[in-house]
Amino acid sequence: MDKFKIEDKISYKSLFKPFGYINGEWINLTKDKSFEIYNPSNNEVIARMPEMGADETKYAIESANQAFDKWKRKTAKERCSILKKWYDLVLENIEDLSIIMTLENGKPLKESKAEIIYASSFIDWFSEEGKRTYGRSIPATQADKRIITIKQPVGVCALITPWNFPSAMITRKVAPAIAAGCTVIIKPAEQTPLSASALVYLAEKAGIPKGVINLLVANNPIPIGKELCDNVAIKKISFTGSTEVGKILIKDSANTVKRVSMELGGNAPLIVFNDADVDIAVKETLASKYRNSGQTCVCANRIFVQEGIYQKYSEALAKKVNSFNVGDGFEDNSDIGPLIDISGLKKVERHLEDAVSKGAKVLTGGKKSSLGGLYFEPTVLTDVKEHMILFKEETFGPLAPLFKFKDINEVVNMANNTNYGLAGYIFTKDLNIAWQVSEELQFGMVGINSGILSTEVAPFGGVKESGVGREGSIEGMDEYMEIKYLCFGNIM
Ligand code: ADP
Repeated sequence: MDKFKIEDKISYKSLFKPFGYINGEWINLTKDKSFEIYNPSNNEVIARMPEMGADETKYAIESANQAFDKWKRKTAKERCSILKKWYDLVLENIEDLSIIMTLENGKPLKESKAEIIYASSFIDWFSEEGKRTYGRSIPATQADKRIITIKQPVGVCALITPWNFPSAMITRKVAPAIAAGCTVIIKPAEQTPLSASALVYLAEKAGIPKGVINLLVANNPIPIGKELCDNVAIKKISFTGSTEVGKILIKDSANTVKRVSMELGGNAPLIVFNDADVDIAVKETLASKYRNSGQTCVCANRIFVQEGIYQKYSEALAKKVNSFNVGDGFEDNSDIGPLIDISGLKKVERHLEDAVSKGAKVLTGGKKSSLGGLYFEPTVLTDVKEHMILFKEETFGPLAPLFKFKDINEVVNMANNTNYGLAGYIFTKDLNIAWQVSEELQFGMVGINSGILSTEVAPFGGVKESGVGREGSIEGMDEYMEIKYLCFGNIM
């Protein structure tokens, strides 16, 4: 740590903020406890941050609660102009923000830049959408009554985010929340808190008043999570992460009947029909499967290929995968960075070993990279079957398993045979198949001839154990607003 200095790598030095942020103040070491942030590319310690707990959480909640009273009274236009400044600052600092992200997450720099643009898009879009939180006028059933609805911010929101998109998962929640008039407490993942604190620093510079955004950082999220769930002042929990943790948060917040938005795990099917354009299917599979080294909740997890196109598609896919460069995210030609940590790497190995022991064949890759550390070769497996672990569990790594199928019924049944329901993908030129299968798939989002579907303007979210609620789009705004119905009587 003494050898390494993040400040040497970035030009706007103040963006390196290894602190928490409560009530407009940056908070350094609390109770002398701290935790370390690692660069997954080489295991170097890049920063040390304060370990915050229940006391800091209570303080953050108090400060957000106090700030709420003023913030909710601002006009949407006033809130918009501050958000716009934040948006501008994020884009002005894209280089430094990307460097910080690649340092703590490991993803290739080009992917970090793409994420900063994506992250900023939520700030831009919701800054405007905050002006359009319209209510309704409803024709009454009695002559002397008048009925209208208005929308109001839910209150103080707790936003808990993962490491795989260290910036975008934050802005996707913070932007609609504060555009709606809510105040927030952010708890970023323990692996990637520096991207979060850099964003919060820019929010402060943009003029977000004290208490409106608070940031809690810790290696142990449990005391913070418990207080956020128990505290009556928190009105809403928005979480992106594993289904396991999502269930804990839903249970714990039931005592105070909080609103929840949950964006949880996925087990995405990607279905390639005989008539698909192979080049398009391969290009989009690569984008869906290998982005962020396969560590996204919408990554294709099970690839179903119809028997007539199986060989052509698998060979074309393996050829492209073979040409990927594995390496440090700061190297120009790097396509696949390291996995986030050792447990991530071990999961990929476990899925691979299980599949191979049950008859799957390695078409390309199939082992840890010669670079060592947390690098894994991008892999394609054929002859994959339903009884293998990777059919049930999300691999979260650069491993593409190819299943063979005969007809629509068979593939729809296989695709839906999971507790998850986040994203699914279909490749076909046949409009009937596209419609029919889109309607049958029990998933919140379906990409048709597209492996990428996230955008700020469309509702992102899942069904079944993949979650509750939607993010992005007008639906994403509603997650942070209550509807109030006003009934006027005796109007003569
Ligand atoms: P992953 O398996 O991808 O790391 P997690 O669901 O464990 O996903 O973590 C996502 C986010 O949830 C992180 O910010 C993490 O610190 C937080 N988290 C994990 N466990 C809890 C908990 N019990 N209470 C609150 N937050 C938690």
